[in-house]
Amino acid sequence: MLAISGVREVRFGDRIRAPPGRGPGAPDPLGSVVSGRGTNGAAEPLLSIDGLSVRFGGIVALDGVSFNVGNGQICGLIGPNGAGKTTLFNVLSRLYHADTGTILFEGKKLLDQPRHTIAPLGIGRTFQNLALFRTMTVRNNIMIGGHCRSRGGFLANALRLPFVSREERRLGERTVRLIETLDLGAVADISVSALPFGTQKRVELARALASEPKLLLLDEPAGGLNHEEVEQLRELIRSIRDRLGVTVLLVEHHMNLVMKVSDKVVALDFGRKIADGSPQEVQRNPEVIKAYLGGEL
Ligand code: ATP
Repeated sequence: MLAISGVREVRFGDRIRAPPGRGPGAPDPLGSVVSGRGTNGAAEPLLSIDGLSVRFGGIVALDGVSFNVGNGQICGLIGPNGAGKTTLFNVLSRLYHADTGTILFEGKKLLDQPRHTIAPLGIGRTFQNLALFRTMTVRNNIMIGGHCRSRGGFLANALRLPFVSREERRLGERTVRLIETLDLGAVADISVSALPFGTQKRVELARALASEPKLLLLDEPAGGLNHEEVEQLRELIRSIRDRLGVTVLLVEHHMNLVMKVSDKVVALDFGRKIADGSPQEVQRNPEVIKAYLGGEL
């Protein structure tokens, strides 16, 4: 159970769990929130990173990093502070420039795409330090996330062309479903700034899902959450993959969460990839143990 600002207690993992008896091929009632795609098997890569390097002056933030994320996988990206995890996310979001390397997303060269096309291409993201419009309501924050899917420009909006109204209706319906899915109903019309941190994190997740991503980049989603909230987050990440077909790349320091939720884990240290495999393999990898100061993960 999760307490939202003392307003009420909710259980956000439960609502989006698949109803009993619904097989993997059955229609998904949430299919219109984000159209279902992919499987959780190690299918062909949705994301393929090859020889990626980023330098900031003398600092090598990423040093020839290569790995794949299969369609429908949950991939954990771990590493000590300064390992290069956020830099990798920033390159994927086209916020940072890569010095060398290629990134293929659905077979397309991502580094050739302008920054503003990343969300419409199907890459959604949450941030380590929340990036919400704090004075706006939860509902409006989520709706903004879906605007990258709208085709209407200034003129089409001014003329209220029929497709603009259709798109707005669709976005409104998707927002309502996301509010329900993430148990934000009690706070939907409250300013984000009035909400506790854990709830704001769910708003950010809902906003990222409103853009209908195929790949969701989660940057330390467990940061600042208590034990119970982390467990609920684990269920939620699984549900996002299982029920919405969204591939997830997860940067996280919370090892218990990463090892429990991920299908595969990639470990970085000083910008280099030091391990890539199942959670069990990576946990046993001597270089990973050394990177974490000799301690057990
Ligand atoms: P943390 O877990 O602490 O968030 P991280 O693995 O995400 O760390 P990055 O933030 O990617 O690590 O940083 C990798 C290296 O690149 C660090 O040495 C960092 O200081 C440096 N770095 C990152 N962004 C910049 C920047 N904009 N300018 C200069 N150096 C940077």
